Amino acid sequence: MLFRGWYHACQLGLFGFAITFFGFAVPAFQSLITVGVWIITPLGLTGAILGLLLVTRGIRSACPLCGKAASWTSPAKNVLAIDCHNCGLVGGNPVRDRRPRELHEYDEEDASNPEKDSESSSAKG
Ligand SMILES: [Zn+2]
Repeated sequence: MLFRGWYHACQLGLFGFAITFFGFAVPAFQSLITVGVWIITPLGLTGAILGLLLVTRGIRSACPLCGKAASWTSPAKNVLAIDCHNCGLVGGNPVRDRRPRELHEYDEEDASNPEKDSESSSAKG
């Protein structure tokens, strides 16, 4: 629940940034700046705390697909992910992916680079 909640909170933060910039761009909607800042500020503080926890202690929470406990990780820039024993990497980019999904593209990257295969092929060649 924590991972899914934070995933959608990041999407809410993007909405907050959008309406803040819209408020700056269109003087008739200046009151949107206040709304946007009230959205962005608590999310930014929460993100800072979660970032510190992730780096120092690691974060474990329920997988958004199967509900089993799993560790938060970051396979690439701008990708929120959780490493689940049942589902593999689950998450996504909050801008592009509306909800967390299985991240097969990062599983394949690990599977295509085993050290044993490269050692055996270099020994033959
Ligand atoms: Zn799972």
